Amino acid sequence: MPDPAYPTQSPVACAVRSACPRCGRGHLFKGFLQVAPSCDACGLDYAFADPADGPAFFVMMTTAIPAVAFGLWLELTYNPPVWLHFVLTLPVVLIACTLPLRFFKGWLVASQYVHRAAEGRLARPAPARTDPAAKPEPSGPA
Ligand SMILES: [Zn+2]
Repeated sequence: MPDPAYPTQSPVACAVRSACPRCGRGHLFKGFLQVAPSCDACGLDYAFADPADGPAFFVMMTTAIPAVAFGLWLELTYNPPVWLHFVLTLPVVLIACTLPLRFFKGWLVASQYVHRAAEGRLARPAPARTDPAAKPEPSGPA
C-alpha cells in the first residue's frame, strides 16, 4: 500500500497533525472522529482504515484510568458533596476520554497504512511448475 513516490510518514506525526498517512498534507478526518472518504491532497482512498475499538482501548489505558483515579482520590480525600463530582470529576473524565480519541484513531489509521495492516486472507496454493527446462531443486547434502 505505501507508495514509493511519497516519503514515508511517521504514524505519530500524522496523528498529531491529523494528516494523510501517504502524503502528510491532506486531511485524515471529516469532522472530529469520522475518517474522510479520501485524502483531499493526494486522493488516497481511506477505505482501508478500520481501527475498530483500538482508539477506545488506548484511551482507557492511558487517560481514562487516571481520570477515574482523580475522582476516587477526590472522594476519598475530601469526601465532597455529589454535586462537586458532577461539576469537577465528570468534565475531567469526559475531556480526558474524548480529546485523545482523535490522536489515537489517527495514529492507528496511519500505522495501518505504513505497516500495510489488513484483514487476513487465505493464501492460494502456488501453481504447479510445468516448465520442462526448469532444473530440479537440490535435494540437500549427499
Ligand atoms: Zn494524501
